Amino acid sequence: MILKKDIEEILNDYDKEKIVICTIGSHTALQIAKGARDENFSNLLLCVQKSEKFYNQFDIVDDVMRINSYEEILDEEIQDMLIERNSILIPHGSFVEYVGSKNIIDKLKVPMHGNRLVLEWESDRKKEREWFEKSKLRVPREFKSPDEIDSIAIVKFPGARGGGNYFIVKNEDEFYEKIGKINLPKEIKERYTIQEYVIGTRFYPHFFYSALDDRVELLGMDIRYESNVDGISRIPAVIQNEIQIEPSYVITGNIPVVMRESLLPELMEIARNLINSSKKLFRPGLIGPFCVELVLTDDLEFVCFEISARIVAGTNLFINGSPYSSLIYNEPMSMGRRICRDIRIAIKSQRLDEIIY
Ligand code: ADP
Repeated sequence: MILKKDIEEILNDYDKEKIVICTIGSHTALQIAKGARDENFSNLLLCVQKSEKFYNQFDIVDDVMRINSYEEILDEEIQDMLIERNSILIPHGSFVEYVGSKNIIDKLKVPMHGNRLVLEWESDRKKEREWFEKSKLRVPREFKSPDEIDSIAIVKFPGARGGGNYFIVKNEDEFYEKIGKINLPKEIKERYTIQEYVIGTRFYPHFFYSALDDRVELLGMDIRYESNVDGISRIPAVIQNEIQIEPSYVITGNIPVVMRESLLPELMEIARNLINSSKKLFRPGLIGPFCVELVLTDDLEFVCFEISARIVAGTNLFINGSPYSSLIYNEPMSMGRRICRDIRIAIKSQRLDEIIY
């Protein structure tokens, strides 16, 4: 495991005038690159062959470095080169998925924005649930085994799989029938979770927790656009019944949304509770961007089904700021820029060690 003091030693040797903001070329890389530019940092994107040309065409990107595979980031040589260049890594969804939270915690010595221990808590459903329960949030019921299913349920597999292979069931028989058809490695398939399917409207609010001034900021909100479930409703119900299409939940895009204003105080309380309990569960707790994935029921109850404790792709909607960010900042403040602003403020006040892990 890479210790905080190892990172601190590396960070101490950094030339703070020449910090480079670095991430993998995917997910929210353009937003992060622009955020770095806006906060007067240079940026570096690590790209595999198929994405190198795409990222190179943007003026906003200062430098693209070709890697053969995402795991190559863990190679000693690449890590040393990133350290040599005073790089601070920004983990995003694809970064965590491709490199793996365990590898990041155990092997990645390049300084990273935020508390990397959070990655363990967001990627493990049991830990995530413990975190939600400690934060006193309402969560969907979980069925420990298929014979307990007594309402519509969604079956999920581990990892941020972007909703891939998830399916809906009504009872035990249907569960066995459908899981038999899922094409996933046995070790992943066996680690399913059966969760009550909550009916309501979904919201994916984007928060930033500033550890430097102990403040939670709401910077945007989206709804995930998922295939094919969001397309099914365009087919008349009679035809849906005839051809029996199974809904799937593969994320393909994001749609902006705002929430009824009278619900915002409770939403902010949820975010604050998550921060407070994170400080107790994995010190010093969550730092920086996070997104609580929730359903609002028709009796206006918030049910939280997931947390992403890093920048989420829905923030790409607000590269020029959102209705919410413009209430806090008099300039276009994307999540990518907010992360870079955090680093900028910390450099100026010599508090980098409080937000870099
Ligand atoms: P991933 O973390 O792989 O992206 P999620 O847990 O976010 O997967 O689920 C993917 C999608 O499935 C969600 O965006 C939502 O549309 C739907 N979903 C997940 N859990 C529930 C639930 N308990 N009730 C209703 N819909 C859900």
